[in-house]
Amino acid sequence: MQFILTANTDPVRLKLVRDRTRMLKQGWPWVYRDWLAETPNAPAGSRVVLHDKDNSIVGFGMYDPIGPLAVRMCAAGERLNDELILSRLDTALSLRRALFDERTTGYRLIAGEGDGLPGLTCDLYADHAVLKLDGDAPAGFWDVEAIADWLADRLSITNVFLKYRSDAKTRGRAVRGPMPAGPVQFVENGIRFQADLVQGQKTGFFFDQRENRARIGQLANGRQVLNLFAYTGGFSIYAGMNGATDVTSVDLAKPAMEEADRNWALNGLPPDHHHAIAADAFEFLEQAKAQKRTWDLIVVDPPSFAPAERHVVKATASYQSLFTAALNVLSPGGIIALSSCSSHISQAMFYDICETAVSKARRQATILGVHGQPADHPFPLICRELQYLKFILLRVR
Ligand code: SAH
Repeated sequence: MQFILTANTDPVRLKLVRDRTRMLKQGWPWVYRDWLAETPNAPAGSRVVLHDKDNSIVGFGMYDPIGPLAVRMCAAGERLNDELILSRLDTALSLRRALFDERTTGYRLIAGEGDGLPGLTCDLYADHAVLKLDGDAPAGFWDVEAIADWLADRLSITNVFLKYRSDAKTRGRAVRGPMPAGPVQFVENGIRFQADLVQGQKTGFFFDQRENRARIGQLANGRQVLNLFAYTGGFSIYAGMNGATDVTSVDLAKPAMEEADRNWALNGLPPDHHHAIAADAFEFLEQAKAQKRTWDLIVVDPPSFAPAERHVVKATASYQSLFTAALNVLSPGGIIALSSCSSHISQAMFYDICETAVSKARRQATILGVHGQPADHPFPLICRELQYLKFILLRVR
């Protein structure tokens, strides 16, 4: 199998002007444009041979002639070839085989940089795989046909869908098998879900919150639950399956709310115990406060408010006011989960945001747990930028 599209063309030779060798050898995954002496005009996805200031080879990667990340490193101290890629793919698979059994058939099989396969994501939904390529360099580098062959060989998967970025003109294309015609069913911790791989957000489901959904399940018995930014109801169904008396899901996207109702029904839960509301979460909270409504367990899992570094100040204020508004409708002694998926908000910043929100709501909180992303979303130790998910559980007086 040949996994690298540009394997047969000459690699681009680049030279570092900064001393970053140690970092790169420790697994730092990117080379920024201003670390390099020259950035020649070559096709996106060309292979790169990276040299240090003294001209020794530091490693190999893939090239982006335009963006701020000029090189994504594939190998430092190892040769970049198909055997290396094959061993990275097989290592990724053996980790997931250790993590999951037949009770969880939806998960992230390949997590880009975290699995040493930069810019390549593969999510599994039972017998369907969804591939995503993060930008022009990965799109020019990875041979998705070869990845599909590997999926067929190792997992007998014959339905492979390549999903394009959300700003692309079309949603994606079938690499193997037909385009997914409707939602695909899978299980997570034995709970049934279905996801729309083509029209849904990301690849169709947010696997990164799996363990946090289970945590909410543990705490849900006998409680009235509010799930804000619920998407297709992940947290809601876990709460319902674990004895919540009543669950309200809120999301701006109407199709997601319809899907949440279907996921609820898929698990045989009583329809009148789930209220799926297509609304803006900020407005919903304002009205709920005016009506003096409260819930005993609230999940707040908004989209990233800081997609880039320059948004951080504004995003911090938005998270704070959102969390305060949610705390205002939490019953005394209630539990709230506050989450952020923005890589630009660090764990330390997130603690501060939560603290300010609790103080502004004039409440007092105890931390029950501080969590993040699960092991099928790994990241290099040296690159905490890729530890994007934060999830803090609080009991609030
Ligand atoms: N908690 C979900 C994932 C949430 S993703 C899960 O476990 O699957 C973030 C969601 O926020 C998306 O579904 C998006 O439609 C929704 N969203 C974005 N802006 C919103 C707003 N202002 N009010 C309500 N929902 C919003």
